[in-house]
Amino acid sequence: MALECQALGTVSVRLQIGLSREAYMLPPEELGYRHLQHLAVKLVERKFPEYGFLGVSEKILLFRHDAASENVLEHLGPGDVAHAGDLIEVVLSASVSLDFIIRPHVLLVHSYKSPAFCDYCGEMLWGLVRQGLKCQGCRLNYHKRCAFKIPNNCRGVMRSQLASRSLGATTSPKLSGLGQNVGGSLEEISHWKWSQRAQGPALMGRPLWKDWMDLNRVKVPHTFQVHSYTRPTVCQHCKRLLKGLFRQGLQCKDCKFNCHKRCEQFVPDECVGEGLAPGTAEGECPSSKPELGEGEADGDGEGTSADGLAEEEMEPNSGTPEAELHTSLSPCFSSYIPLMRVVQSCRHTKRRRSATLLEGWMVHFTSRDPMRKRHYWVLDSKSLSLFHCESGGKFYKELPLSEILQIRPWEGLAPLDPSRSPPCFELVTEALVYYVGEHSNEQEPGQVWARAICQALWPVNPEPEGFGQDSSLVSGDSDESPAETDISRSYQIFPDEVLGAGQFGVVYGGKHRKSGRDVAIKVINKLRFPPRQESQLRNEVSILQSLHCPCVVHLECVFEAPTQLFVVMERLHGDMLEMILSSESGRLPEPLAKFLIAQILSALRHLHTQNIVHCDLKPENVLLASDESYPQVKLCDFGFARIIESASFRRSVVGTPAYLAPEVLQHHGYNRALDMWAVGVIIYVSLSGTFPFNEEEDVNEQIQNAAFMYPRQTWASISLEAVSLIHNLLQVKLRKRLSVDKALNHPWLQDFQTWLALRELETRVGQRYLTHPSDDARWQRLTREQGLAWPPGLPTQPSLEEEGDSDNAGEGS
Ligand code: ADP
Ligand code: MG
Repeated sequence: MALECQALGTVSVRLQIGLSREAYMLPPEELGYRHLQHLAVKLVERKFPEYGFLGVSEKILLFRHDAASENVLEHLGPGDVAHAGDLIEVVLSASVSLDFIIRPHVLLVHSYKSPAFCDYCGEMLWGLVRQGLKCQGCRLNYHKRCAFKIPNNCRGVMRSQLASRSLGATTSPKLSGLGQNVGGSLEEISHWKWSQRAQGPALMGRPLWKDWMDLNRVKVPHTFQVHSYTRPTVCQHCKRLLKGLFRQGLQCKDCKFNCHKRCEQFVPDECVGEGLAPGTAEGECPSSKPELGEGEADGDGEGTSADGLAEEEMEPNSGTPEAELHTSLSPCFSSYIPLMRVVQSCRHTKRRRSATLLEGWMVHFTSRDPMRKRHYWVLDSKSLSLFHCESGGKFYKELPLSEILQIRPWEGLAPLDPSRSPPCFELVTEALVYYVGEHSNEQEPGQVWARAICQALWPVNPEPEGFGQDSSLVSGDSDESPAETDISRSYQIFPDEVLGAGQFGVVYGGKHRKSGRDVAIKVINKLRFPPRQESQLRNEVSILQSLHCPCVVHLECVFEAPTQLFVVMERLHGDMLEMILSSESGRLPEPLAKFLIAQILSALRHLHTQNIVHCDLKPENVLLASDESYPQVKLCDFGFARIIESASFRRSVVGTPAYLAPEVLQHHGYNRALDMWAVGVIIYVSLSGTFPFNEEEDVNEQIQNAAFMYPRQTWASISLEAVSLIHNLLQVKLRKRLSVDKALNHPWLQDFQTWLALRELETRVGQRYLTHPSDDARWQRLTREQGLAWPPGLPTQPSLEEEGDSDNAGEGS
């Protein structure tokens, strides 16, 4: 071997640090001290990264093993060279102390546009937005659940600063000491950290005591086992995905380090033992560990989070609310999806209609994107759909004909690739111009398409000759339609005043011309819905027409145009979601939440007694009548509402994903209990400001398991009764879920202050629709027993004295 090496002109030298030894084949000119020192730095960086980032070249000492000499280890200096076969011991100077290697990360919540993986545990960062934390220094990414386990070894910005410092150190005696050098950097770290914090809350990694502990820990080889991963995970050595359906990689059985089989040989022997490394469930921050019952999950969120809420433990009658809370509060490092307005996205698939007017392959580019795209175009009487292929329902874009403003010949204004032929015609919409087709010598399919679209846009016009001769052709939606004229005769719509928008339409502010009364006008574009759903659109109107209750929005009238439906309602102030999102803490105080929820339940009682199920209950559909701090609320949006007899079930898809009950997702039949589930979610989001779903797991699965957690950080300040009510509403089994009446009688809502606030509201509204007179005696007795003052404005119950205190007035309404 040595001969071969010499034949190649290299010699063998070994570097040793601790238990690691590396052999190098070096040409003679690289045997000098400087080069050896460079190799040693690289070795330290690889084997002991926590030291490497300090740029410790000056702090590395080299000793040659020489059994023949008196000292056994011979210190090498700048003038020395290594010889073939030398074993050189790499030693870190005593001045490299732990004080200097604490480099906290500065972690800010980050939204990733492409799939990203946690640099600590290797698993994917789940979710649509705010999936994880990004270190502002080294740009590494972490789960929130991993934040308190990350070693303080940020190698970011400060590293480059150190590099320049190291250069300076040769000329500046001031910086020659590593302590000074790094001490200055630490100050900068904190300064930088604080300046970053000004931009938003930043998290740091694990507590420093943990780094001290880990660095002093003896590191041993990993014990790798073949592992099947159930979620996308990257190799923690090469950072590439562990591919395959199962047995994708190796996992250390003790510290859970993950790597490819091929990478195993390169992974340093750095196992820190059981439960102390990436991916392990053991909490590392003693202060973060709540006092939980046995078998309680930790904060890791995935998989484990459900443990704390196994169904047996969550039997409604399994214990006191305190017991429930203790089994369901999770530690504070969960990542719950923040509450937001959920507009159900249109699914980009549709069934092709039979009444196709024209179909075929066509190319286009747009005024925004010059790249030509080829799709299978299908034109019918309502829209132009651009499918990805000739069969199948997946489409790229659907253009309602009402949005097409003009079809005109190519005007030559858009930038054009000179190697391509010009398009045939321009299709103009409010937002974009589509340049369609390609002039070719053979056929002109573009011309055929332009004519067909013109014809579809103006079907009453027998011969749309215009295209090619008259360049200013039709606009899709006629302003002269009789129904539209009708509405504009009675009401003025304010197109700039959008009060809200949802799955069915846009709600504008408006005014009744004669009376000057403010109204809200919901404009539903009928073309957005397949013909079968059109009748469903009118469903909202017919249900609203049948409801007369102060807790349901009042429908004034309806107008119908060929392509639009106008629903004129009393104008209210805003919605409950707005109230939650705009409140200072992003959630509602309990007394206010009780006041609103009691009204929602009263509205539901009214609906359910008439066999009407709302089916899309969510804070967006709970309107506030005024800007008072304790406002009257009314339900709106009956677009999904169904009439369901008490003993029957429906199966059609309804609602908004985040508020959907498991029976809808599982396509089991649903009934009025569906609304009660939604009330559970509404209480949860109102009190916490987050959805009850962990960002890292599939929301549908979480709903179907009903494994909801109540992160301690948020829920510790919320009453146990609230948790108990939510828990009894978010029950998978319909028979276990509380009904409206039972929910109204739950202790959380049976609260004197809530009752008083509701009574005051009734007085303002001038109608008793929320509380029941049979309850008055009970509350009056309570005030007397507790020495509270009975509000002067409310009538007293003279019968109370006569009946004595033993009557049974405790029955709620
Ligand atoms: P969609 O069926 O499309 O969801 P909604 O009827 O829920 O439409 O209305 C959408 C939004 O418009 C509501 O969330 C609310 O913010 C606002 N809105 C609806 N009706 C009124 C109204 N009568 N007064 C004030 N705002 C309203
Ligand atoms: Mg709505």
